[in-house]
Amino acid sequence: MYIDGVFIPCDNRDTITVYNPATATPCGAVPVATPADVDRALQSARTAFESYAQWSPHKRAELLQRIASSIRNRSTELGAVMTMEQGKPLIEATGEIEKLADTFDFYGAECTRIHGDIIANADTCIHSFVQREPIGVVGAITPWNYPAELIGWKLAAALAAGCSIVIKPPTLTPLCPSQIMQCIHDADPPAGLVNMVMGEGSVVGQHLVESPLVDKLAFTGSSDTGLRIQQSLRQVKPISLELGGNCPMIVTQHAHMGGAIKGAIRRSFRNCGQICIAINRIYVHDSVYDEFVEKLVTATDALVVDNGMDNPSADMGAMCSQQVLQKTKIHLQDALDKGGVLVAGGHAPQGEQYKKGYFFRPTVVKDCHHGMLVMTEETFGPLVGVMPYGHIDHGIDLMNDTPYGLASYIFSTHMREIKTISSRLQYGNVAVNNVDAGIMNAPYGGWKQSGIGVEHGREGMLEYLRYKHIRVKING
Ligand code: NAD
Repeated sequence: MYIDGVFIPCDNRDTITVYNPATATPCGAVPVATPADVDRALQSARTAFESYAQWSPHKRAELLQRIASSIRNRSTELGAVMTMEQGKPLIEATGEIEKLADTFDFYGAECTRIHGDIIANADTCIHSFVQREPIGVVGAITPWNYPAELIGWKLAAALAAGCSIVIKPPTLTPLCPSQIMQCIHDADPPAGLVNMVMGEGSVVGQHLVESPLVDKLAFTGSSDTGLRIQQSLRQVKPISLELGGNCPMIVTQHAHMGGAIKGAIRRSFRNCGQICIAINRIYVHDSVYDEFVEKLVTATDALVVDNGMDNPSADMGAMCSQQVLQKTKIHLQDALDKGGVLVAGGHAPQGEQYKKGYFFRPTVVKDCHHGMLVMTEETFGPLVGVMPYGHIDHGIDLMNDTPYGLASYIFSTHMREIKTISSRLQYGNVAVNNVDAGIMNAPYGGWKQSGIGVEHGREGMLEYLRYKHIRVKING
């Protein structure tokens, strides 16, 4: 843990054991925060905020740039720690660390562009100045699927805005986040500006949620936890919730088949499908359904699943925990019980080396329908359901038939069709003929049960600022 500029070791404390999901063996431990630790972190964040909020944006930009360099200098080391505790292959993990560094560069530049307005009054002797000021102390709670980036989106945006922060990372992957704190420390921030406390969400996270010392709460995690957090707030305060998805893809009769297959593979199975914007369900026009399924199966069967440390460029590593593996198996069995046809995967890779860890082959079930869990709930595993549709209106209705609204994907080369579908989709992110629904310089957020607020872009920084209207009468 990192409180008031000091690292707290495990000595004489309760600890959380961290496991390597590729071998199911312990690979580290972190100390557990007491409520008093959380309060101390929040108090030190409050003290740091009072002076940091007065820093010029240029001085803040320099700090963010130093953090970016500090992270970049250790990207290989941090990537290895992430692979060890999260399971994703080393090249993918190191890439995430490099994107974390880019986030600090982006917000380092953005923080010098916090503008206000001057608004005309009916009385010309009066001027209205509207300025943006930092909200204060941020409480940030993050999940395990992107252990670095999901901290970075909050941390960099909050620091750019002039806020201080207390972060609670997940218990499954706390080691990479604590290494990130070492990079922050090396960049020489004021003590207490950035703090990290470890522990169970229901205890340490909940304490952060309920604390009057938190001015703004930023959460990424499941929709169930997000709702619980929203319902348990004890004060009125701004809150951002980046929650779960159940993301659809549509492949029309006008789709470029090669692009659609490549997209489906990448966004269904990358990080073992443990992505909020993962494609869970694919709707394919009747006329190209058989061709799509056949090609999807061939491409899926060609993916390499392996220990991400031994094979850094594997397509998929181990899943992060027994729990997510189990949920994938439950969704698969449910689909098969209800008439789905297994056409790829459905089992762990063969070999002694995969027996202990949480490995599962990428899996495709065809002939799915909306009575199945795979088509209606977030699996968060390497499983995708495929279903045919006839009329485009039916395809769009199926895509929108969910309480979630995070990301959706269209594959079509027909402009009018793309316009019709994209304008009717009830999602915060729509990617057309590509599957990268979020980029750093555009706002990213979910509709409906997928969340409140946005991350990324200038808008992601504005979430940590509030308006002040100063109305000045000249001459008295
Ligand atoms: P989770 O909701 O179980 O946990 C997320 C974090 O919340 C963890 O740090 C956990 O310890 C903490 N927590 C749990 N209960 C809490 C409570 N009562 N009070 C405060 N904190 C609490 O989610 P997870 O399993 O870690 O992550 C997977 C989920 O995250 C998926 O649903 C995924 O879609 C979602 N996610 C969303 C986005 C997005 O940008 N929308 C990005 C990544 C992941």
